[in-house]
Amino acid sequence: MPDRDSKKPTAPPAPEPLRVAVADSHTHLDMQSGSVADAVAQAAAVGVDTLVQVGCDLAGSRWAAETAAAWDRIWASVALHPNEAPRVADRASGGGRAGLDAEIDAIDALAALPQVLGVGETGLDYFRTGPEGVADQQHSFRRHIDIAKRRGKALVIHDRDAHADVLRILAEEGAPSTVVFHCYSGDAEMAKVCAEHGYYMSFAGTVSYKTAQNLRDAVAVAPRELLLVETDAPFLTPVPYRGRPNAPYLIPVTLRAMAAARGDDEDQLAAAIAANTARAFGYDT
Ligand SMILES: [Zn+2]
Ligand SMILES: [Zn+2]
Repeated sequence: MPDRDSKKPTAPPAPEPLRVAVADSHTHLDMQSGSVADAVAQAAAVGVDTLVQVGCDLAGSRWAAETAAAWDRIWASVALHPNEAPRVADRASGGGRAGLDAEIDAIDALAALPQVLGVGETGLDYFRTGPEGVADQQHSFRRHIDIAKRRGKALVIHDRDAHADVLRILAEEGAPSTVVFHCYSGDAEMAKVCAEHGYYMSFAGTVSYKTAQNLRDAVAVAPRELLLVETDAPFLTPVPYRGRPNAPYLIPVTLRAMAAARGDDEDQLAAAIAANTARAFGYDT
């Protein structure tokens, strides 16, 4: 008789280690099961030596900053997620635009900390947030762009079904010197636009999905010096482990899918990605 745990998806096995270590440019350790120490050790064992921990709300951003302060090879990125911004504004007590601005002010203060290297994930998400949330979302995005510029940090963009508005608002506000499209979801045409502006494109497990030929086309045309790799764990587990929990130690699976789509040598791609991530966020490898 199966026990009750048999329905719980098990963690995928560790992939073959990378020979050249890279960073997971975007992860959510606070949403994964297990300790930070275990996640760091499992990642390091397969050649994932650096993690960027991304906050999605004020509490998560504070946790990211604290965790990055405590761990040498973890850096933080702080923001209110585009789906979080309208929720903050809608809150019965202390909500509204003033409530949203107060929380963004707190993000601004966190962004000044030395271990916080990114402002994000911010941006636009027209998939999960309906038309009623767009104004707050765009206001929040504009304010995060300003924070990234004033604090000199990388802007980490979440863009879901909102490519045109994300690019338009970036142009209107003036983009910070470093922009990262996290979980890059555009096509090859948009990759060319990003390349013209020098925007980094961070690919997640979605690049390995059967239906995602547009992403493989995009990764193939993107300049190698603008490529990053991420898990967005616990979400977006790469093929062949979809449906099972994602974690930073699965980066090699996605990096190999990127190398295959480009026809690149795995070690050369890993070396480029390691250098790109350090340059984008401004840490020493
Ligand atoms: Zn995201
Ligand atoms: Zn994320």
